[in-house]
Amino acid sequence: MVMIVCKFGGTSVASAEQIQKVANIVKSNPARKIVAVSAPGKRSGDDIKVTDLLINLAMAALKNEEIEEKLQIVVNRFMVIADGLELDHTICDVIAEDLRERVQDDKSNKELFIDSIKAAGEDNNAKLIAAYFNSIGLPARYVSPKDGLVVNDLPERTYALPEAYVNLAPLKYTKEIIVFPGFFGYTKAGILRTFDRGGSDITGSILAAAVEAELYENFTDVDCVFSANPKVVNDPVEIKEITYREMRELSYAGFSVFHDEALMPVYKIGVPVNIKNTNNPSAPGTRIVPRRSVTGRPVTGISADSGFSTLYVSKYLMNREVGFGRKLLQILEDENISYEHTPSGLDDISVIMRSNQITLENEERILARVKNELNADDVQMRHGFSMIVIVGEGMRNNTGLAARAATAISKTGANIEMINQGSSEVSLVFGVLQEYENQILQALYGEFFAHVRV
Ligand code: ASP
Repeated sequence: MVMIVCKFGGTSVASAEQIQKVANIVKSNPARKIVAVSAPGKRSGDDIKVTDLLINLAMAALKNEEIEEKLQIVVNRFMVIADGLELDHTICDVIAEDLRERVQDDKSNKELFIDSIKAAGEDNNAKLIAAYFNSIGLPARYVSPKDGLVVNDLPERTYALPEAYVNLAPLKYTKEIIVFPGFFGYTKAGILRTFDRGGSDITGSILAAAVEAELYENFTDVDCVFSANPKVVNDPVEIKEITYREMRELSYAGFSVFHDEALMPVYKIGVPVNIKNTNNPSAPGTRIVPRRSVTGRPVTGISADSGFSTLYVSKYLMNREVGFGRKLLQILEDENISYEHTPSGLDDISVIMRSNQITLENEERILARVKNELNADDVQMRHGFSMIVIVGEGMRNNTGLAARAATAISKTGANIEMINQGSSEVSLVFGVLQEYENQILQALYGEFFAHVRV
């Protein structure tokens, strides 16, 4: 039997009307047997996501502040949805009870306490949606991540353990529609841990890989993935088909439509992904596939992200010093900092990382250690960089692309601080000062899209 796993994001399940659309989508194809859901998201621009309301609630509980009002705001969000779906109000009493239990939980580990409250949005929404499906004659069953989605222990960031895939595989024999909450799993000891923000995409992908689905449909609120940020570039080209590698490179730097970690589970076994719009389900969306034939333009998309810092280290004869790079990276590892790029010359190396990992204290420690332990001639930490990433499978067989990109960037007056071409040659990364980001994105888009005939 053909099996499709679908995931519906926050805006797709933000209100009763949206959940009715979800039901219609699920009903319209009997292969859609497993449905992963987010917590209710924003109903309009100035609305607040349930996950953010829950974080507020968790913070107040941690500070021993009055929580009743904050708790009621969450319950009311679900109440409005339940009313709109003509569901019995007892479901809201159950949700209120569940939240009250969670806020009473052990607070000795703040991170785990917040995780447990955050996950209540997805967990209760999945129960509510399963109840709604049944109420309209669509046989459905809520399944808890407790039944198999095993994740690692602290302190590492949350990821699914290999046994999760084995545990969840039998879901492929389901008769009813399974409604599965996104965003979290349980450690072997039964402790709840959430993925990163936007992590319901990851849950959907894990399920799709576990049941070896024919397709993973990721329903969101846009028709497709665009070749550049539509808020910066006018009317960018829609991407119809893209490879995992291309998508991974683009979502790394600002393409927030699909969580970059969500590609891993499906990538491993080659389940194609289709990004689709809950508000326009007949639009074909964007397909993410293992391979595609490259025709037309060499560049598939251009993304940009700010918030990078660079650690610059120079030392005469660095190239002859065995272990220099390892010792440098060890200093960062000791501070629990991950890095993004390490462009290097003969006598210098830069390590580029996300600025949100750097504090005044760890910066001071890092600079002192590099200077003293590695005897560097010069060491500097600089902040305020953006990475601009040009991505395309067609770039491999195309000469002169870097020159074209550099020329387009130079016309904006910006200095290129760093260039990095990954060995796969599907991406070319430019590090620039943050203030030039939008101008450069527009210039590169003009160079690779506006003037190219397909
Ligand atoms: N609700 C969570 C968030 O807002 C997870 C998700 O929607 O994917 O980040």
